[in-house]
Amino acid sequence: MLVGGGHSHVAVLRRFGMHPVPGVRLTLICRDIHTPYSGMLPGYIAGHYGYDEVHIDLSRLARFAGARFLRAEAVGLDRGAGTVLCRDRPPVPYDRLSINIGSTPQMANVAGALEHAIPVKPIRGFDVRWRSLLDRVRKHPDVTRIAVVGGGAGGIELALAMQYRLHNELRALGRDPKELDFHLLTRESEILPTHNTLVRRAFERVLAARGVAVHRDAEVIHVSAGGVRTASGEAVQADEVVWVTRAGGAPWLRETGLALDADGFIQVADTLATVTDPKVFAAGDVASLSRYPLEKAGVFAVRQGPILAENLRRAVQGRTLKRYRPQRRWLALVSTGDRFAVASRGAIGFEGAWVWRWKDWIDRRFMVKFNEVPAMASDDPAPPSSVKLDNEEAAQAISAIAMRCGGCGAKVGATVLSRALGALRPLDRADVLIGLHAPDDAAVVRAPPGKAMVHTVDFFRAFIDDPYLFGKVAANHALGDIFAMGAEAQSAAAIATVPPGLEAKVEDVLFQMMSGAVEVLNEAGCALVGGHTGEARELALGFAVNGLVDADMTSVMRKSGMQPGDVLILTKPIGTGTLFAAHDRLQARGRWIDGALAAMCQSNRLGAQCLREHGATACTDVTGFGLLGHLVEMTRPSGVDAELDLSALPVLEGAEQTSAAGILSSLQPANVRLRRALRNQQEAVGHPRYQLLFDPQTAGGLLASVPAARAGACAGALRALGYAHTSAIGRVLARGEELEPVVLRLA
Ligand SMILES: Cc1cc2nc3c(=O)[nH]c(=O)nc-3n(C[C@H](O)[C@H](O)[C@H](O)COP(=O)(O)OP(=O)(O)OC[C@H]3O[C@@H](n4cnc5c(N)ncnc54)[C@H](O)[C@@H]3O)c2cc1C
Repeated sequence: MLVGGGHSHVAVLRRFGMHPVPGVRLTLICRDIHTPYSGMLPGYIAGHYGYDEVHIDLSRLARFAGARFLRAEAVGLDRGAGTVLCRDRPPVPYDRLSINIGSTPQMANVAGALEHAIPVKPIRGFDVRWRSLLDRVRKHPDVTRIAVVGGGAGGIELALAMQYRLHNELRALGRDPKELDFHLLTRESEILPTHNTLVRRAFERVLAARGVAVHRDAEVIHVSAGGVRTASGEAVQADEVVWVTRAGGAPWLRETGLALDADGFIQVADTLATVTDPKVFAAGDVASLSRYPLEKAGVFAVRQGPILAENLRRAVQGRTLKRYRPQRRWLALVSTGDRFAVASRGAIGFEGAWVWRWKDWIDRRFMVKFNEVPAMASDDPAPPSSVKLDNEEAAQAISAIAMRCGGCGAKVGATVLSRALGALRPLDRADVLIGLHAPDDAAVVRAPPGKAMVHTVDFFRAFIDDPYLFGKVAANHALGDIFAMGAEAQSAAAIATVPPGLEAKVEDVLFQMMSGAVEVLNEAGCALVGGHTGEARELALGFAVNGLVDADMTSVMRKSGMQPGDVLILTKPIGTGTLFAAHDRLQARGRWIDGALAAMCQSNRLGAQCLREHGATACTDVTGFGLLGHLVEMTRPSGVDAELDLSALPVLEGAEQTSAAGILSSLQPANVRLRRALRNQQEAVGHPRYQLLFDPQTAGGLLASVPAARAGACAGALRALGYAHTSAIGRVLARGEELEPVVLRLA
């Protein structure tokens, strides 16, 4: 289990990806999908690099490594139970654990700092705040005063990079770059205290030439909206205060029982195993080597990566661990923002534009190793034949997994099942007479008077390696049909298959998956009343759901009620099929997948309610047949034609790129047969969104026809409910002479 996607863990992922250890599965828990490479950050701030050039795509790297990627924030450890506690998801068990979560700014002890200063860590937060700072400076009519607190390499690089970028921004607006007033404050008597005199002098010169006022012996003790005050009483006025001082360990580490140093960093031996617990390792900024006090620099986190990977491998195999010996001198290439850099190593220092180009070459070469990973040979590796682990029993059990029974023998064991499901808290409903609270051969559910029942079933295999998230999507997908009918969800029975494995792992996968599903069902007011679980090669989950509508059918939304003149409204963006096909081939960016998953996890419940309230004449949820397939399922029984405006289609980020690259879902060819429903297909075929008409959706949005007079208000109300991408994508036409019911607007 790897917690944090820092510089050391990316090396672990890459190494395990290239040389997997039979019987070992990696899981990465990280709150970010794209982790920044610290060496290139100042260049990004200065405007020399784009976002993707300086970030490692953890989602893709994890997929390459065959690791499960759980996007989550760790907030604690239960070492007794061997679990990582996460914000907003169930605990995740580990056998061996490694922590590489970087450092956390220590601002709480400086009055006003938390409210008024911008911390550089976490970088993700800084990026957002940096962009809004850029915006404020652009709009600020007068001189903007910026104070950077911290006189180490990070603070100086950042100050110079920010200044360079802001000068360019002001120039581009036709303003005077002098409308910026930069201050650098350090509590030390010198800037760059850990570097040699040559380097220090070089930066003193650069800072003076660039008009940055340096305040030495200036420990900031108070921050306010108007500036900072130092321990000696000096006041520096500032509109923006950026905090780049020495950081500490994350506060939650204090509750883990691991030995920490004075700054709250985890104490590790030179094997990178913690001094407290041989099962727990730490690396990078968060690790404190008792024998070697190290500066907090990415260079050490990077160097520790290969040793950490080797020692994690050795630890699970019960072998002697290697020792990490930090280099006594290391090369630091510190940039000045303007494509110029100073090199610092021991007593050596030199500078020049060529040093920056050298640094740029080194940094880019580093990033290629992580962002240009080769496609995996196979998604379905053969079961390991010989597994060598320090736990002999586990090794034998894993080796035996290849030989399993089918039929009834393929049922997941009762103990595993009851333990996994015992921890779930499904909703209680008064109309569920026999459910999971009193398990029997089958559930008994009452249909309340005046109500009719709506039944639907859906089932599919996991397309992501996070069982909790998959459970959420599967439940949401199954509920989609109920909501599209205008029904209230009442109860659901689950059908699941889980790949064979060690009992504890099977139990956890089942628990994680069903926890996600139950969360979604509970939120929808739907009681989980029973289910069946079997073993199979793949993880899969589905639900038979029933819902309730008024028995007089007045509340039902069918596919067949479309009226000419109605406006077609789509509540969620499309593109999940092509994006997940690309994810499989390591061709999708992590944030595209994250965006698609967020859309898939959004319930259609409120959307359906809103559509009904706005008089929708017909409605369906967009799933496996793709947008066109589902539209035709509506036009045919309604006896109408439709016009679709391709440019108005809401599309998930990345879907146009992946479909243009020819990466399409395996279901797409079957859907493409429906092109004969298109009147001007020949004309449309080259359009960048044409392929997306056939893209199968998982947990897609609602497609509805709404009377034109109410369509604007309806789309507005849907957006206000959180369906931010809701669009009017076309209109319903009276049935014409032509055989093809759908005409595309291409402009
Ligand atoms: C402006 C600036 C410039 C710098 N330039 C350099 C440089 O040129 N060279 C250099 O060597 N050093 C540089 N540094 C220092 C460098 O940034 C750090 O030393 C380095 O990032 C530490 O790496 P790490 O792997 O320990 O952690 P990080 O790079 O901080 O990575 C931590 C990861 O863990 C994740 N994470 C954190 N908490 C949790 C949690 N609770 N749950 C799940 N995930 C979590 C984060 O999202 C992140 O992905 C610079 C620092 C700054 C501020």
